[in-house]
Amino acid sequence: MLDKETQPPGRYGQGRLINVMEELGLGTKATRHEIISKLYSRAYIHGNPVQPTNTSFAVMDTLEKYSPTITKPDMTKLLEENMDKIAEGKIKEEAVLEESREMLKQVFSELDKNRDNIIESLQAGLREDKIIGNCSLCGNELMIRRSKRGSRFIGCSNYPNCTFSLPLPKSGQIIVIDKLCETHGLHHIRIINQGKRPWDLGCPQCNFVEWQKTQQEEQAQQPKKEKPKSIKDLEGVGKAIAGKLEEAGITSVEALAEADPIELAKTIKISVKKVKNWQTSCNGGIVEDL
Ligand SMILES: [Zn+2]
Ligand SMILES: [Zn+2]
Repeated sequence: MLDKETQPPGRYGQGRLINVMEELGLGTKATRHEIISKLYSRAYIHGNPVQPTNTSFAVMDTLEKYSPTITKPDMTKLLEENMDKIAEGKIKEEAVLEESREMLKQVFSELDKNRDNIIESLQAGLREDKIIGNCSLCGNELMIRRSKRGSRFIGCSNYPNCTFSLPLPKSGQIIVIDKLCETHGLHHIRIINQGKRPWDLGCPQCNFVEWQKTQQEEQAQQPKKEKPKSIKDLEGVGKAIAGKLEEAGITSVEALAEADPIELAKTIKISVKKVKNWQTSCNGGIVEDL
């Protein structure tokens, strides 16, 4: 028989969450939406129905262990109630301030006493939100990392011994979701840009393989121009320029293709862009803007 007690509660949608906050006396009518959107923007929660990230579990578990007072709705509720009483003139501001001060003092001393444990416990949770799965080359953990230039990518924790990597989008918040790829065993990724619908990127490896395929197809579809046979076949090369090129030791299409464009541009007094365009043509490529 199924034990009902072990069933986790259904996930709350944002509307239901606001009702529950009201029941618990958390926030006010004016602030509840703001509190929830802060939780989204700091990646404590994602989706709707709302799902907590590993980071939020880490914060809750850590605080419940080391400073249970702030994880209970009672403290916030009491403060909100006291505010109302001040507004109604039922109690004095000073009394509430004194009480709050005492409460916060206790909380801070709890936090301070357990500082190192808290740091360690939070770091473990944050790290967990960065793990994508196991590297298909070496079996070590793949993690979300940042390059020296600041761009994000998925890299192997066995680096530099293993250089396996996968690209990630430049912008948006990266959420590692529970769903796993059946082929690669990697966690699916969701990208959240403010004001836009979340983008389910799916398995980052499948996504990359797919991207490579479309790149190859696009390249195959691009028309190839016939390579020019002589320098004079190039656009913008007349007698005068052909003469200058010859003086610079460039007498064939092959030689032009291999020349250092910056040096050559200087020698024959022509723009680097033009030289590069010739080189593209020499290699059978299409010059887009002449
Ligand atoms: Zn690896
Ligand atoms: Zn995959």
